[in-house]
Amino acid sequence: MTGSDQPGSDRAGIDQAGSDQARNDKDRVVSPLADADDRLIEGALRPRRLAEFVGQGRVREQLSVVLEGALRRGRAPDHMLLSGPPGLGKTTIAMIIAAELGVPLRLTSGPAIERAGDLASVLSTLSEGEVMFIDEIHRVARPAEEMLYLAMEDFRVDVVVGKGPGATAIPLDIASFTLVGATTRAGLLPAPLRDRFGFTAHLDFYEPDELGVIVRRSAGLLGATLRDDGAEEIAGRSRGTPRIANRLLRRVRDFAEVRADGVITRRVARDALELYEVDENGLDRLDRAVLSALVSRFGGGPVGLSTLAVAVGEEPETVEVVAEPFLVRAGLIARTPRGRVATAAAWPQLGLPLPPGGPPGPGGAGLGGPGTLFD
Ligand code: ADP
Repeated sequence: MTGSDQPGSDRAGIDQAGSDQARNDKDRVVSPLADADDRLIEGALRPRRLAEFVGQGRVREQLSVVLEGALRRGRAPDHMLLSGPPGLGKTTIAMIIAAELGVPLRLTSGPAIERAGDLASVLSTLSEGEVMFIDEIHRVARPAEEMLYLAMEDFRVDVVVGKGPGATAIPLDIASFTLVGATTRAGLLPAPLRDRFGFTAHLDFYEPDELGVIVRRSAGLLGATLRDDGAEEIAGRSRGTPRIANRLLRRVRDFAEVRADGVITRRVARDALELYEVDENGLDRLDRAVLSALVSRFGGGPVGLSTLAVAVGEEPETVEVVAEPFLVRAGLIARTPRGRVATAAAWPQLGLPLPPGGPPGPGGAGLGGPGTLFD
């Protein structure tokens, strides 16, 4: 990437990456992907230090030990891999890591690293101890990935000069740095890359009470008047995702100002979210479309991801990364080796009676419980 040592251009890489998916997704008020509006506001709402970061208790604790250890030794900590659905705080954690270590942060993204040279230009300008964040790291191009292995292990890059038989690799030492990689699809990471991370954390969806704390904090920062019952209502409909919680808060605040007296109560939050078609469980149109296709058109499955995606007119990746993890978490669908199946809870969710023979699925058993996410 040209000029990738400039923070502005790195950010642009991320924006580009996000926008592909965001285009399909832009009219969804509960999309976990960030739109331009979100990015503007998110800067102000992001917790800056580990102590301000709500939820993900285990990850926070592990991280604080890793960071404290590194600070005591005066050395850059191990490379860290953060995985989990979009909007759960991976970028926020990368920023916190740099802040806690008191070092600069370089932001880039997998799709922005198309050639090894793009990566070399970033790596060769890192300063000692710097944190380098690569979002969507599973999308880094192959040749760059090989360069990353060497850089992560030996803090060295081989710069190839010339072409064809006359080409020579000149080894170049780079500063010791900490790579923080984020991915929504850990399963797509090649093993040699995964193995080079000394610390791996998986972020999970947040509990409603944690989201309640997050929206109250955000309301304070935005200067919105939010009652506890209003916070509870927003938290319960946020698909376990802080980014969505913050976005719903902004929509509800608009509604409260325009249609009510500006105070966000449960009533106001409910009316606002009904207007935006976000139901009590946080399911929105895409979620309902996926669930309803699975139940009504495919008799509850099993059905393959691409077939399901065609049925709802979306890209398979959007269904897989955006809708599915939450539907699985909500216990409404399960991923099986033969395809996606609806659980017994899916029919009542859509207001439909269960099929006479019971729902399909792995032996018809284990349904209605939390599905498994193997990725
Ligand atoms: P990701 O990189 O996983 O897509 P981000 O780190 O960009 O997610 O988080 C999206 C937004 O959600 C951030 O701007 C931040 O305001 C909010 N957020 C995420 N995690 C937390 C948290 N644990 N506490 C408070 N706010 C959070």
